[in-house]
Amino acid sequence: MKYLGIEPQKVRVGVFDFTGCEGCELQLANKENSLLDFLSLLEVVNFREVSSDRGQDYDVALVDGNISRADEVERIKDIRAKAKVLVAMGSCACFGGVNQQKNRFELKDVIEEVYGEHPVETDRVKRIADVVKVDLEIPGCPVSKEEVERIIVNVVTGADIKIPKYPVCVECKQKINTCVVDLGQICLGSVTRAGCDAVCPTGKVGCLGCRGPAEDANYDALKEILLEKGHPESAIVERLRFYGGFNGTVC
Ligand code: SF4
Ligand code: SF4
Ligand code: SF4
Repeated sequence: MKYLGIEPQKVRVGVFDFTGCEGCELQLANKENSLLDFLSLLEVVNFREVSSDRGQDYDVALVDGNISRADEVERIKDIRAKAKVLVAMGSCACFGGVNQQKNRFELKDVIEEVYGEHPVETDRVKRIADVVKVDLEIPGCPVSKEEVERIIVNVVTGADIKIPKYPVCVECKQKINTCVVDLGQICLGSVTRAGCDAVCPTGKVGCLGCRGPAEDANYDALKEILLEKGHPESAIVERLRFYGGFNGTVC
């Protein structure tokens, strides 16, 4: 894309994966509809899932996955040293994700139980922000491709970055959904940051909290309602611990 006949300099982006399923990267790679517009602003110099280029001169690093091995600590430090802006992308990178559940157990027991006679090197799970400075976090499991695209374009153009502070319940009510709590399920929508268009409760599945805490979340009210509905406290805590987004706040 040219402006006044001049090709503007593109921002160079690297996309990097650590411990995770790489589903967040896949969301980016799947951007068929808007990929051309997106790439008119960016030059992707390093993205293992889509290219064999391994450029080291990136301005923005998008990182998915968490840190669970010593070599990953060194690699994320190297990426941090090269990037002007480092974005943690997805629940694994922001909160530890599903994998952080292993931190509740003895590491040797996890290795024995999961890998049996074929043990691998693995350590306690750390968020990216536990190891290096993170400039921006985009939560979700996986991330919403529209949200990542909007935020990265805002980073590149210097526009304000807006991530919803209100809870999933707002989006759920806008869709005129029947509340799954009234159908007997546990749902964390009232304490979880919106931005996913309430995709789970719209599909009649209670929110698991993959986007982490909403601002001013009222955990006491959530707990009171769910206890009244007959859910044991252990089940509520288990749900809050699922992605790690509420660790250090209520569990
Ligand atoms: S946040 Fe979810 S989709 Fe993204 S890498 Fe982790 S497990 Fe995969
Ligand atoms: S289903 Fe969940 S997100 Fe929707 S209104 Fe009920 S508690 Fe809120
Ligand atoms: S409804 Fe909850 S678990 Fe589902 S995508 Fe949204 S924040 Fe994540």
